[in-house]
Amino acid sequence: MTNVTSPNWQVKDEQFVWHSMKPYNPNATMIVQSSKGAWITDIEGKRYLDAMAGLWCVNVGYGREDIAKVAYEQLLENTYTPLSVGHIPAIKLSEKISELLEDDYVVFFSNSGSEANEAAFKIARQYHQQKGHANRTKIISRYRAYHGSSMGALAATGQAQRKYKYEPLAPSFLHVTPPDTYRANEDHIKSKDPCALPSVQAIDHLMTWEMSDSIAAIIMEPIITGGGVLMPHDHYLQGVKTICEKHGALLIVDEVICGFGRTGKAFGFQNYGIQPDIVTMAKGLTSAYMPLSATAVRREIYEAFAGSEEYDFFRHVNTFGGSPAACAVALKNIEIMEREDLFAQSASLGATLLATLQEQLKEHPYVGDIRGKGLLIGVELVQDKDSKTPLDVTLVNKVIAQCKELGLIIGKNGVTVAGFNNVLTLSPPLIISSDEKDFIIEKFVQALQSIKL
Ligand code: PLP
Repeated sequence: MTNVTSPNWQVKDEQFVWHSMKPYNPNATMIVQSSKGAWITDIEGKRYLDAMAGLWCVNVGYGREDIAKVAYEQLLENTYTPLSVGHIPAIKLSEKISELLEDDYVVFFSNSGSEANEAAFKIARQYHQQKGHANRTKIISRYRAYHGSSMGALAATGQAQRKYKYEPLAPSFLHVTPPDTYRANEDHIKSKDPCALPSVQAIDHLMTWEMSDSIAAIIMEPIITGGGVLMPHDHYLQGVKTICEKHGALLIVDEVICGFGRTGKAFGFQNYGIQPDIVTMAKGLTSAYMPLSATAVRREIYEAFAGSEEYDFFRHVNTFGGSPAACAVALKNIEIMEREDLFAQSASLGATLLATLQEQLKEHPYVGDIRGKGLLIGVELVQDKDSKTPLDVTLVNKVIAQCKELGLIIGKNGVTVAGFNNVLTLSPPLIISSDEKDFIIEKFVQALQSIKL
């Protein structure tokens, strides 16, 4: 057996592995040896509570034997069937996703969140063509949002630093300012009409100015996650839905992070009383035990592809999307979430975590805002509470490093939101115990004290 503690792993890692989102020639990366529950252990034997659940994805926690077993058994039972044909795990999973979405949806499978969004854009554009509206090609999204790394999903992304040096990307993507209850609170708006919210009006105006009949769709996360956990006004999504109907645009909701319990419900949009036209999902769908994503569309959209002309059907395929083992893993993952009541647990533990952090950090000079829903929490650091000027990124990074020192992995809103790299993020596995929640609070607060003047 290889000696896993050999320092050669570090050297070989630096020599051969091109890491994501890391500057060239980084300082030694942490190399993980094993993981269980909410904890990961590096090759030096140091343990960390992973309060980011990997990349916001290991919702049921690490090392579940029953999920591994299902994958093993399914790989032996039927290794592979493309979805131009059918297989039972995909049928069962599609039906289950439709049930969780609480309406009648048809599901297309891919491998990643980016691909799920690419499929959504193509479906939206072709849907309008099928309906005789060939001009409807534009797709709207919001600044600060992340929708993926491929050329269309990156075009939809509203973070300029991620696009820099990769342009030109796919054309016909437009952006509006996102809602943000901390920096642009809309509670003062007297009207109860959701369409009176300035953040909703911005979309209405853009769709009008661009000409309604050129708009295919708008894509949004229920809560912007990686862009800084930006909370919308409670009525924002209702307003967006009304505006979409007014202009004939489809509403695509990106549930890649918010889905599968992260915000305390099966899907994030279910907190806001709307029903999207298209829903994309990945990460928590399998809790990252296997790559799998899905694009769920309302049946009426699916049926628009039923024409008999040569190019009426959806001409889109990916070899691995919806593989039997990945679907079987997703089904077991969802079964666990339901059996252990993890959506409700995310809501209640998240509410306690949020309230406790708000209480314990309210006097901290650099803590501008603590917000979130379920086990999705953002802590915005500012130079001072009045001006809300973002705290210098070196101090933000210091907190993250200090947490790591204390055995806690936390995140921040990337290195990619120009001018606003100042939001610390918490997105732990939904299975954390009450003691583990307390551990997160203790270490997080301790790390923040280390940057106090
Ligand atoms: N959409 C959102 C909201 C995401 O956070 C991500 C990834 O972090 C994606 C899409 C892209 O998913 P993937 O990395 O699986 O392509």
